Amino acid sequence: STQVEERTFQAEARQLLELMIHSVYSNKDTFLRELISNASDALDKARIEAFRDKDLQIDTSDLHIEIAPDPDKRTLTVRDNGIGMSRDEVVELIGTLAKSGTGELRRALAEAKDAEAPADLIGQFGIGFYSTFMVADNVTMVTRRAGEDTATRWESQGTGTYTIETIDTAPQGTEITLHLKPEDSDDHLFDYTKEWKIREIVKRYSDFISWPIRMEIERTTDDETTIETVTLNSMKALWARPKDEVSADEYNEFYKHVSHAWDEPLETIAMRAEGTFEYQALLFIPSQAPFDLFTREHTRGVQLYVKRVFIMDNCEELMPQYLRFVKGVVDAQDLSLNVSREILQQDRQIKRIQKRLVKKVLGAIKDLDADKYRTFWSQFGRVLKEGLLSDTENRETLLEIASFASTRASSDESSEEEVTTLKAYVDRMGEKQDAIYYMTGETRELIENSPHMEAFRAKGVEVLVLTDPVDEMWVDAVGEYDGKPLKSIAKGDVDLEDEPSDDDKSKQEERDKEFADVLDWLKTTLGDEIKDARLSSRLTTSPACLVGDTFDMTPTLEKLYRASGQ
Ligand code: ADP
Ligand code: MG
Repeated sequence: STQVEERTFQAEARQLLELMIHSVYSNKDTFLRELISNASDALDKARIEAFRDKDLQIDTSDLHIEIAPDPDKRTLTVRDNGIGMSRDEVVELIGTLAKSGTGELRRALAEAKDAEAPADLIGQFGIGFYSTFMVADNVTMVTRRAGEDTATRWESQGTGTYTIETIDTAPQGTEITLHLKPEDSDDHLFDYTKEWKIREIVKRYSDFISWPIRMEIERTTDDETTIETVTLNSMKALWARPKDEVSADEYNEFYKHVSHAWDEPLETIAMRAEGTFEYQALLFIPSQAPFDLFTREHTRGVQLYVKRVFIMDNCEELMPQYLRFVKGVVDAQDLSLNVSREILQQDRQIKRIQKRLVKKVLGAIKDLDADKYRTFWSQFGRVLKEGLLSDTENRETLLEIASFASTRASSDESSEEEVTTLKAYVDRMGEKQDAIYYMTGETRELIENSPHMEAFRAKGVEVLVLTDPVDEMWVDAVGEYDGKPLKSIAKGDVDLEDEPSDDDKSKQEERDKEFADVLDWLKTTLGDEIKDARLSSRLTTSPACLVGDTFDMTPTLEKLYRASGQ
């Protein structure tokens, strides 16, 4: 073996560990769920790698997870014979927060430095392996990547540094040993070396794991001691069981496993299709957007299984980009086990499944009650609106689901912003109003203080307040709703006046004459800076404002294009 090297955790990782060690997170038991979840992933990967690369000679004869408590040493060991990690992977995956969204996490950690809101933060970020430091004051890991000769030993007390060394050999897979904190052992409720405790946690959080979770149990009768190996989980695939036989808790725990998240699902969708192309799907709409929803590396989505066998994470062919927040599993009966991304992209059946899943998810969103809908929209509305642009087939449904801020109800800091659907807007429209008015901009404040808004405010005409970058795109693509054109109040011919009478017309001509000189002067002075100078009825207090042509880009869109280098 080589010498022991000491290394420092990456800064964000250190901060997270700090949170874990002093965690007030009430549910410490979840550390075991996380270890089992990782072991299960590692076994899935081993099977799929063995299938793809026979040269690796991965041993898949008895893939399983083992839990071994030692009450005397006060340790708990979780072992798997899965894919394991190389030395580089240990540094990359354990020493570093290998997730995207660490920038956001850094900001959130800075805000939560008084450790007031860690539970919430844990919920959003998902802590995974580091949760072991809620219960352990020392963690050792020995791991060997399948197909490699040497192994890696890693050890840490979770306080800023870890040690790493290359060792000659170890069984394929990963063994993690926790030395339990003394304060928990006094309380028998948190004694993780007790058989009943381990059984309880596995049953509650990991029953559906599709690999056997084993434990050796010693039984002493009178003068005989026997050791029996028991399997603690039922291994029943949740998606294959009838809905009414599965409890909400079971669904929730499964959600946490597939999504690597710590929040509760907002909605669970279980469906099955029988006939020529058989599949089962178990999908979840989360209640909290993950940190990395808007970064390109966002990878967790819908998993593809074939006949109960895990095939791939984040199967993009099953869920369009704008529904990337949907998590879960699709188990198809009629695909080949060696199906690849390339094959999936061509597959007509997969396209058909995707269509049905999308309809089902949109239907579920439509049916959310008011409370859940508000949560949903605040977390994922921005993503869903991307669909208004990309999914023309479901545009109608998306327009029904979507909601927007408007001038009807002003936002005040204490309460959440009141939003409106397009339908509700149209229902409120005055008799003479024939368009849906909106304005785009970077913030609500900028929009509300815009001179374009004056006439609308004066006349009490509601205007949609659109502040997301994607708003610029979909309003143009969509064009109208319910036969009413979507009109930007910052562009061209927005006419709030009633039909002019003859009297009005002559007054208008008089005014035109009166201001002709001023307009001419404006035009010559500003030259190429503007296209035209016109008299307007849209202003009530500001003397002048800049207006885009109907087919011009709005200022925000101009900025967007400029920012993207066009
Ligand atoms: P997550 O599971 O959400 O990715 P974790 O903190 O739980 O986050 O784990 C970090 C990474 O470490 C995993 O993605 C995986 O690559 C690796 N890892 C953890 N445990 C194991 C294991 N038992 N076998 C192989 N790799 C593991
Ligand atoms: Mg994990």
